[in-house]
Amino acid sequence: MPAPFGVYLHVPFCAARCDYCAFATWTNRDHLMDRYAAACVAEIAGARSDQALPPATSVFVGGGTPSRLPGGLLKEVLDHVPRAPGAEVTAECNPEGATEELFGWWRAAGVTRVSFGVQSMVPHVLAGLGRRQDPRSVGRAVSLAGSAGFACSVDLIFGGAGESDGDWRTTLEAVLALEPRPAHVSAYALTVEPGTPLAADPCRHPDEDTQARRYRTAERVLRGAGYRWYEVSNWAVPGQECRHNQLYWRQGDYRGFGCAAHSHHRGRRWWNIRAPERYIAAVTAGRSPVAGEEVLDDARRAFERLVLALRTAQGVPAHAVPDDPDLRGLVSRRSGRAVLTVRGRLLADAVARRLRLTTILPA
Ligand code: SF4
Repeated sequence: MPAPFGVYLHVPFCAARCDYCAFATWTNRDHLMDRYAAACVAEIAGARSDQALPPATSVFVGGGTPSRLPGGLLKEVLDHVPRAPGAEVTAECNPEGATEELFGWWRAAGVTRVSFGVQSMVPHVLAGLGRRQDPRSVGRAVSLAGSAGFACSVDLIFGGAGESDGDWRTTLEAVLALEPRPAHVSAYALTVEPGTPLAADPCRHPDEDTQARRYRTAERVLRGAGYRWYEVSNWAVPGQECRHNQLYWRQGDYRGFGCAAHSHHRGRRWWNIRAPERYIAAVTAGRSPVAGEEVLDDARRAFERLVLALRTAQGVPAHAVPDDPDLRGLVSRRSGRAVLTVRGRLLADAVARRLRLTTILPA
């Protein structure tokens, strides 16, 4: 297997903006799709001619809503991405956008894995999130993806306004009842991002105790169904973990294409222009679409690696977590590693602030 290398492709188009969303996505730019895909191809070609694009061991098409892009256009872009044999290729999909035709294109483009933005299976919870979607579309979408031979993942959000403990259980159980059953589940606590409609509506802000309870429920239900957590917000049937995410958490190298896409190479991080029209204009004119960059020194890079590792089931070297009374019960120590307990996962940021950089982890 070649050295892990990831490619991220950003698709900045959505049908409507969800109330909690601060991603780089637009609801009125669909007319740019053809030119956007052409710009992505040009950016990829530039990276290839600079010898800066080794074969990808994982590719992730995120957004936005990648399933909004016509399948033929996505294939055109992905056809230019060099891939290692057996590469994992994930594309995010809105369940309502799933069709046999789209998945036919995706198969032809080499997609291996589909990640569905489900969030909740309960209509009034979706309404509380400001998400316009019919949960009845999920069963059909997952079944179509299964028939097309894709591995499936679902993204969930807990802690939305109007969601009860029972609603959250209903969502988890409905996901486990899908045919085929998705082998991977991401469950995120709702966060309030500045500038969103949710931020402007404090009545809908999530409550920490409720979120902690929902997290414990997710752990109990998913574990009981054979899933194992491998990062604070991610559970998988063993062997079905997302390789692309693991590459991020191991601080691997990756290259992002498209507007707002981020890249990383050995401690140098850079990111592209955010707005799609400015991104297209730059690439089309032969200019670099890079908007900014930062270079991490060795100590910061090593510390970030530690923080990322702490959030995973691999944990960190035991001596990186001080043996203080107030951290007891938050990590379990075994075989020289410190791994977050369920309670520790709820307080991962607080534990991360206490990490000691006593060791430089291998790059
Ligand atoms: S579908 Fe996803 S990217 Fe689009 S607005 Fe909703 S949360 Fe944001």
